[in-house]
Amino acid sequence: MMNTPLTLVSLVERAERYFPKKEIISRTLGGIQRFTYKEMGARTRSLASALESLGVKKGDRVGTFAWNHHRHLEAYFAIPSMGAVLHTINIRLSAEHVSYIINHAEDKVLLVDSDLLPMFEKMKGQLKTVEAIIVMTDEDVLPESGLTPLYSYETLIAEADETYAFSGDTAEEDPAGLCYTSGTTGKPKGVLYSHRGLVLHSIALSLADTAAVSESDVCMPVVPMFHVNAWGVPFAATWMGSTQVLPGPMPTPEVLAHLIESKQVTVTAGVPTIWLGLLNELEKKDYNTSSLQRVICGGAAAPKGMIRMFETKYEIPFIHAYGMTETTPLVILSRLKSHQKDLPEEEKLELRSKQGVVVPGIDIKVINENGEVKPDGKDMGELLIRGPWIADEYYKDDRSSEAFRDGWLYTGDVVTVDEEGFVKIVDRTKDLVKSGGEWISSVDLENALMAHEAVFEAAVVSVPHPKWQERPVACVVLKDGYQNVVSKNDIIKYLEPQFAKWWLPDEVLFMEEIPKTSVGKFMKKALRDQVKDYMSL
Ligand code: ADP
Repeated sequence: MMNTPLTLVSLVERAERYFPKKEIISRTLGGIQRFTYKEMGARTRSLASALESLGVKKGDRVGTFAWNHHRHLEAYFAIPSMGAVLHTINIRLSAEHVSYIINHAEDKVLLVDSDLLPMFEKMKGQLKTVEAIIVMTDEDVLPESGLTPLYSYETLIAEADETYAFSGDTAEEDPAGLCYTSGTTGKPKGVLYSHRGLVLHSIALSLADTAAVSESDVCMPVVPMFHVNAWGVPFAATWMGSTQVLPGPMPTPEVLAHLIESKQVTVTAGVPTIWLGLLNELEKKDYNTSSLQRVICGGAAAPKGMIRMFETKYEIPFIHAYGMTETTPLVILSRLKSHQKDLPEEEKLELRSKQGVVVPGIDIKVINENGEVKPDGKDMGELLIRGPWIADEYYKDDRSSEAFRDGWLYTGDVVTVDEEGFVKIVDRTKDLVKSGGEWISSVDLENALMAHEAVFEAAVVSVPHPKWQERPVACVVLKDGYQNVVSKNDIIKYLEPQFAKWWLPDEVLFMEEIPKTSVGKFMKKALRDQVKDYMSL
């Protein structure tokens, strides 16, 4: 058969050609802006042409430091479609990590949102390879800055060639994207995505039995475009010609609820903390969310109580999914099989709170010291993954050999698999509580805690213990109005019927807030340190 290359060029060209009137709705600092795919295509070509005149060549890395908006989407296609590499940088990392990442990636040009520019003032003189910074702003006038040379995005593209022909000699194995893991331990590690991997991943995301991204959808990726390419949603949505809603800078729960209602969003994706915030907002104020056909939740375990709220109270179908930066990210996704649809509600909820079944195209294996684990939903082991959109090394990094071995990615996630193939993430190896030689899943305890009516958020971490090695401690944030109403005893009593006695937390600490990572997950490491200090008082 023909061996035509799978490259991102064909994705944007299809949107321009077959969906010229469909829209991208973008929330920016200057308000809501709308662009058709025809306009988006012309602006994307102009950006590629402008980058070329700035000296960007095939294979060069171009960094983006931006929220989710139309200019970022244009960069998503302009950079790889001219043969360069789209390097999305996490805007929530420390200046030290950001400068490390830019120097390690050897970015030649940076595209930066105007409100995020101050971070770069601090790094002046430290960025060794950057030759130009383009400010993504609506303003005609560039902000005051000591950084040079500085260009205005709109001025650059206004002067560039909107008929620019995308690179015809891009091979499908060529690198298209680069993303660094958030580096909670040690320096961030880079993952290079090929055109082929991203195209195949976009197909996987659009299958009816996965996220089913389609033309009739109004897609709103809340997951940041710097977090594993917003899980690939902008690529798939553009290819399918979906309407896109990009929620812009600081998308608060109120902003999201308003966008869902006013733009008739049908599918949205984000981490659990985003959805906990949204539910809180929906509880406070009346919004019409009836357009929502599915909420995709990944990046950390979705608490069962949250799934129940979405599905039963708001009648919004909830899809739990699992992946990593190293896996582009979609690997496992939870949809009930046809014969499971008539199961009792609680059983269905139990299945939905698992991460789900491996998607077509990907292979998984679960191993422990006895070999492959039994598919009985109980036997635990480490999840291994392989497939055409799974990385096989870290970018220019000598730490690859630990994770990538014998043709598999070793995820460091401990899981069970049941006879239907549903995978449940028990914990990250480093977050499991190892008590007296047995494992306690922090995720299971968190799940139960977050189903309590007074609990807004809860995280469970281990503390060192002289007899049991480690013991669990629960950190709980109460909902407004429940402070000083619910006690440690109430919480433990509530957990007692659900767990073996030795699983119950030794301590329940009430907090104002759980520290979060740069991508909105509970920051277990910081929390462990905080709790250790508290316990030693
Ligand atoms: P980071 O390591 O910086 O958090 P990633 O986004 O790559 O960056 O995180 C991947 C990890 O997130 C997985 O290895 C797993 O531990 C966790 N994870 C992702 N999705 C889920 C999920 N649905 N349930 C539980 N854990 C998840």
